[in-house]
Amino acid sequence: MIKMSDWKNLLYAGKAKDVYETDKEDEVIVTFRDDITAGDGEKKDNLQGKGNCNSLISSKLFEILESNGVKTQYIDLIKTGSMLSKKLEMIPLEVIARNIATGSLLKRFPFKENQKLDPPIIQMDYKNDEYHDPMLNDEITISLGLATQEELDEIKSITLKINEILSKFLKEKDILLVDFKLEFGKDSKGNIVLGDEISPDTCRYWDIHTLETLDKDSFRQGKDNVMDIYEQVCSMIVDEEDIKRWNSD
Ligand code: UDP
Repeated sequence: MIKMSDWKNLLYAGKAKDVYETDKEDEVIVTFRDDITAGDGEKKDNLQGKGNCNSLISSKLFEILESNGVKTQYIDLIKTGSMLSKKLEMIPLEVIARNIATGSLLKRFPFKENQKLDPPIIQMDYKNDEYHDPMLNDEITISLGLATQEELDEIKSITLKINEILSKFLKEKDILLVDFKLEFGKDSKGNIVLGDEISPDTCRYWDIHTLETLDKDSFRQGKDNVMDIYEQVCSMIVDEEDIKRWNSD
C-alpha cells in the first residue's frame, strides 16, 4: 500500500503527466494531469477530470496487454489519476501504428481518407520538440544512436502485437482503433517495456457504428463537449468492477 509519504521528488513534468520518485529506486508514480494540448503545444486547455479518465483507460489497457504477455510499465492504479509504474529509461521515439488512413498521413501522402491499411503501417517519429518530432527511418534512428536494429525490430513486432490485442478488445466495446502512439523504454535489465499511456490523448478511437470521434480529435476540432466524449469512452472501456477493484486495493 503506497502512502502519500512515499511520494518523493518530481522527476519529470511532461505536457499532460508528472513522474514522481518513490522509496523504491526502480518504481515511480505517474500522475495524469487535466492539461490538454494539440498542434505542437499551440492549442492548450485544462479539462477537469481528463487526467482521471486517462489514468483509468491506460490502466485497463495496460492490464489487458499484460494478460496477453506484453511487458508494460504498469504495476497498479494506486488511486484514480496516479499509476504506480516501473521506472524506465525512455527511448525518444513516438511509435505510431495505423489501421486507417487519417490525420497527418493524409497531409503528407496521397492516401485516400479512411482507406483501410492492411497490413497496418508502423511509423516512428523522433520525440524532440526542438525539431518538431520529425519522421524517422531505421538508418537515421540507428545513426542518431536512439536504438539498434535489433531493438527497432523488437519494438515493431511488439507494436503489431499490441495493435492486434487492443483492436480485438476495443472492437468488443464497439470502438474502432484507427491509430495510436506508443512510447517504449528500457527497464533496469535492459528489456524493452511499453511505457507512457494509451488513452484518448494518444489514440484515435471511433464509434464502430457511426464512426464518430471518441478521442482528442474532438479537442483538435474545437468541439465544446470534449470532456463528455472522454467520459463516454472511459465508461465504454473501463467496467464498474475495475473501478471497485482499484478502489479496494
Ligand atoms: N499522436 C500522439 N502524439 C503526437 C502525435 C501523434 O499521441 O505527438 C497520436 C495521435 O493521437 C494519433 C496518432 O498518434 O492517434 C497518429 O497521429 P497523426 O500522425 O495523424 O498526427 P495528428 O493528426 O494527431 O497531428
